[in-house]
Amino acid sequence: MRRYSAFAVAREASRYHTGWERAWASPEPKSEYEVIIIGAGGHGLATAYYLARNHGIRNVAVLEKGWLGGGNTGRNTTIIRSNYLQDSSATIFELARGLYEDLSQELNFNIMFSPRGVLMLAQTEHELRAWKRTAHANRMAGIESEMVTPERIRQICPIINTKGPRYPVLGGLWQARGGTARHDAVAWGYARAASDLGVDVIQKCEVTGVDISNGKVMGVQTTRGPIKAGKVCIVVAGHSGVLADMCGFRLPIESVALQALVSEPIKPCLDIVVMANTVHGYMSQSDKGEMVIGGGADGFNNYTQRGSWQHVEETIRALCETFLMISRLKMLRQWGGIVDMTGDRSPIISKTPVEGVFINGGWGTGGFKSIPGSGWAMAGLVAKGEDDIAGPFSLNRFAEGRMIDESVAAAVAH
Ligand SMILES: Cc1cc2nc3c(=O)[nH]c(=O)nc-3n(C[C@H](O)[C@H](O)[C@H](O)COP(=O)(O)OP(=O)(O)OC[C@H]3O[C@@H](n4cnc5c(N)ncnc54)[C@H](O)[C@@H]3O)c2cc1C
Repeated sequence: MRRYSAFAVAREASRYHTGWERAWASPEPKSEYEVIIIGAGGHGLATAYYLARNHGIRNVAVLEKGWLGGGNTGRNTTIIRSNYLQDSSATIFELARGLYEDLSQELNFNIMFSPRGVLMLAQTEHELRAWKRTAHANRMAGIESEMVTPERIRQICPIINTKGPRYPVLGGLWQARGGTARHDAVAWGYARAASDLGVDVIQKCEVTGVDISNGKVMGVQTTRGPIKAGKVCIVVAGHSGVLADMCGFRLPIESVALQALVSEPIKPCLDIVVMANTVHGYMSQSDKGEMVIGGGADGFNNYTQRGSWQHVEETIRALCETFLMISRLKMLRQWGGIVDMTGDRSPIISKTPVEGVFINGGWGTGGFKSIPGSGWAMAGLVAKGEDDIAGPFSLNRFAEGRMIDESVAAAVAH
């Protein structure tokens, strides 16, 4: 594929943009692949890219029932940070954050990574102590993250009301190199780069069954016919349980809707990401000027990909306490995505009881930030049969009691 560059833009400008190629190929499925990846979200596409780039495995298909990036990858609020509490989480999230820094150059696709800084407010004594513990753990792990005082918070973000009516701001955990990226571009960039390396990205191809013989995977049934493969990766976020059911095993995962909304666009007023966990809401400002606002997950299992008035009300109420100015804003639109929650709020990157079937899921409300690291580790696991970074996230941990507890450490995990 031709590289994107300033020269290419100038060249196309001079000939009325008639020479642009398709961003990625759209092939018919072959009858057999070495590896099939189910789900063209960020994690599936990154896995395909790193399989080809890091391990030379290019006979790979990514099968997507809808359009690529149409799942949670295109529905999230794009927060990227790596200041998690446990060592194994910090390792994979920091790998991902580091890869995000150069991802536009790596993929030759502008993913608009913006390391604008992520601030997690402490609004109770308990939260203050929890963040201090995380800051110490991060320092030990070599991750840049620090505690900041209310005075410093007022300098970093003047629009925060630090003397809130219910919960004054007592301090915060600040990661200066955290930030945001354009979510669709991450999917598109990986798709284009993987396609360039020979991976088949096939949209409108739903997997409806998994062929298994003597405990070993043989291939998949799809809406476009059967396809054989010796290795099949399930990377479908909120549908992990559905695919596991097709393979005959169960997962310790619950699927629930998580919601977000954006306001009308306004002039720049917030140049960082702020997460207010105690009142439960978080906010950043997009390049278009909209305030991007995230709410909580539903308290009951469901597969609805849409918003609800109840969540809008509780999220806006929470943020109005923290940012008085947003009470004057009109909201433009709301939406939901189905997230896959594990009990310890950490992901699963693992082999499964079926030989040749791998799973990458359980990222819950916080898997956008991990896409490059997750794809890197998953590709290693699929190519070599084991991977140091993926190792702690195996399915066995639930049977062996090796939980990676991030639930209390990150009340709003995004
Ligand atoms: C409202 C909201 C806000 C969020 N905010 C953040 C945030 O700020 N930061 C953060 O880090 N994370 C956030 N997340 C979480 C993050 O979006 C997800 O963890 C991440 O995008 C999961 O990516 P994925 O590639 O695993 O899944 P997805 O992007 O959902 O991709 C899975 C794909 O599998 C496809 N699929 C399903 N079944 C089949 C089948 N049978 N056959 C073929 N294809 C199939 C789906 O169509 C889908 O495209 C948020 C999520 C939501 C919903």
